[in-house]
Amino acid sequence: MDGTLTQNDLSHVVEADKAHVWHHLLQHKALETSDPRIIVEGKGMRVWDQHGREFIDAVSGAVWTVNVGYGRRSIVDAMSEQLMKLNYFAGSAGSVPGALFAEKLIDKMPGMSRVYYTNSGSEANEKAFKMVRQIAHKRYGGRKHKILFRERDYHGGTIGAMSAGGQLERNLQYGPFAPGFVMVPHCLEYRAADQGWGDLSGEAYGERAANAIEEVILREGPDTVGALCLEPVTAGGGVIVPPVGYWQRVQEICRRYDILLHIDEVVCGVGRTGTHWFGYQHYGIEPDFVTMAKGVASGYAAIACCVTNERVFDLFKDDPSDPLNHFRDISTFGGCTAGPAAALENMRIIEDENLLENCTAMGDYMYESLGALADKHAVVGDVRGKGLFLGVELVADRDTKTPVSEAQVGATVAGCAAEGVIIGASNRSCPGLNNVLCLAPALISTRDDIDQIVDAVDKSLGKVFG
Ligand code: PMP
Repeated sequence: MDGTLTQNDLSHVVEADKAHVWHHLLQHKALETSDPRIIVEGKGMRVWDQHGREFIDAVSGAVWTVNVGYGRRSIVDAMSEQLMKLNYFAGSAGSVPGALFAEKLIDKMPGMSRVYYTNSGSEANEKAFKMVRQIAHKRYGGRKHKILFRERDYHGGTIGAMSAGGQLERNLQYGPFAPGFVMVPHCLEYRAADQGWGDLSGEAYGERAANAIEEVILREGPDTVGALCLEPVTAGGGVIVPPVGYWQRVQEICRRYDILLHIDEVVCGVGRTGTHWFGYQHYGIEPDFVTMAKGVASGYAAIACCVTNERVFDLFKDDPSDPLNHFRDISTFGGCTAGPAAALENMRIIEDENLLENCTAMGDYMYESLGALADKHAVVGDVRGKGLFLGVELVADRDTKTPVSEAQVGATVAGCAAEGVIIGASNRSCPGLNNVLCLAPALISTRDDIDQIVDAVDKSLGKVFG
């Protein structure tokens, strides 16, 4: 640490935090007998806490966000230059970085054409939902308004986004939710046996899971279904990668019933899955909406967006004489210029440093290294993911696939921290389902970093499970 904060200052920070901050995800009773972790500094892949302890951050800021790593001077410079020129202007006006980032982003997204700025992933998803609802009113007398979402997917913490929340335990005690959201079955091959479709695997399983979406559409009535919203690789719901073929079938189904395809790239977007800028681009599908947030500016600024194709955009300018016709929506902080300025520089870094390629190479290496842990630890049931976005599902018994306890998962995460590595776990606020360790280090990871991360997981599993 650079020493600008004294130990006295930091003790005061801890007291102020304990007295006044309501932390995300935390049961605060724990802070009556212990101190919160305060992260004070970050550089590259590493962060330091209030005691000066150094950690490798294997989850990019706890929730897979800081894709290009900490302490990027060029992003801070781009933001500060822009902030001195013009920090903010909203309403129907545009901005210089807003236009330039949109141009660069669309260049990476063939088939897409328009960028609607917001400031969180939840909000970006809400905008897409609102567009779907408005299209239903404009074109179908309000009838084609239903939005399908998938079991285990997550789209945000606002009530609208939670209405599309497939981590059902996470929703307990927060209802009632918005009407017109309908769940389709998950596509987690490892848990296929629970779905009652017989002994299917690989492409046959993927096809069955996609057909299950069609069954829901037919049950609801295709003329009532406006959109299908999916994560390309499910993140917090357990790092789920559908088998080859699933996405092509999903696309076919959407086309057959004229259903808009909304891909939530809040986690997968901007390089996280390697090789391509976006997760959906691995599968050759053509979405109508793509929402993104976290990695867009790697957490240097709060920026998110809802990107659409021209087909969607055109629907909102078809009758200018009708005052209800355009998208009558605003996001106050969608007018912050620091976001697109940071996002533009973030993208330049990813290109200039070949981070999409590095993500694939390091992701493959981490996948193999984690896979090797299965030979040593019977508790490792499944390792899955794409790029630097991996999950390790822990089971008490490989045959029954009974999840290990939440306490054991917590102890494994804490054990890694004791080894100097911060990892995550799925569904931290979703009791009973958080048995997947989550690893998503920055796209700048080296083999050495990966070795240290996997070594910590290895040691921690050894301590917790013997
Ligand atoms: N979609 C996905 C896939 C997410 O993982 C998240 C956040 N974890 C969101 C949407 C919501 O994003 P935010 O927290 O920025 O509202």
